[in-house]
Amino acid sequence: MAAAAPADPCPVCKGFGVVETPDGKTAACRCRIEDRARVRLSAAEIPNRYLSCRIENYEVRPDSHPSQARARLAAKRFIDEWPRRYGLLFVGPVGVGKTHLAVAILKQLVEECGVRGLFCDFSDLLERIQATFSKANSDSADDVIAPYRDADVLVLDELGARRPTDWARDVLYSLVNTRYNRERVTIATSNYTDTPRRMGDETLEARVGATVRSRLYDMCDLVEMDGRDHRAWQHGPAARR
Ligand code: ADP
Repeated sequence: MAAAAPADPCPVCKGFGVVETPDGKTAACRCRIEDRARVRLSAAEIPNRYLSCRIENYEVRPDSHPSQARARLAAKRFIDEWPRRYGLLFVGPVGVGKTHLAVAILKQLVEECGVRGLFCDFSDLLERIQATFSKANSDSADDVIAPYRDADVLVLDELGARRPTDWARDVLYSLVNTRYNRERVTIATSNYTDTPRRMGDETLEARVGATVRSRLYDMCDLVEMDGRDHRAWQHGPAARR
């Protein structure tokens, strides 16, 4: 099989990766900076579905719920004010764009601010930890969870989505508590709030436990969202008409 042709070297640095600055010093070439950003982005484990999410393509229409404009502004401010010590906790019904905005922040910080960030769907994380209990798996639970404890910025998506068991609560508590103690920035999303929309719905506290809820409120600014499910609005029968 023929070897792949080497990529053309960068026309600016001719492949050396450094350029001379006007004051006679050297600096990383744009191509090298972009390469590093690409590596950080792929390490952030953002699901493909959300890779194109940006603050700019989060639409706020005249008939959008006002909380969505506020949420977009909070996300934009978060980036403008980086580095910050506090994260954000997006709560609200399904499909209002909580994950979209959380990922948009993560992407921009990873690409433009050199942040080591990670996306975590908590249900997936639990499954990966459970897989380590099998003898065939040489990873330990700690190997799996360590990157999520250590990331500069962690998006903790869909908190409370999975029916809480004592074990899942312990894992979540350990993760959130370690990040809380180390003052690491966490951006969390949840469909559960303190005041359920419908009678009989569970609260955030019931889903994640009082200790996790209390730490999240302390380490994050709350962003409450409301409105219609964007998926149904965009892909539902009305959209196809
Ligand atoms: P949630 O996390 O609140 O359940 P998502 O962020 O997963 O909602 O949004 C569902 C889909 O709809 C995603 O593909 C997202 O990019 C898109 N979406 C949601 N709200 C908006 C919006 N206001 N503008 C553009 N896309 C949106």
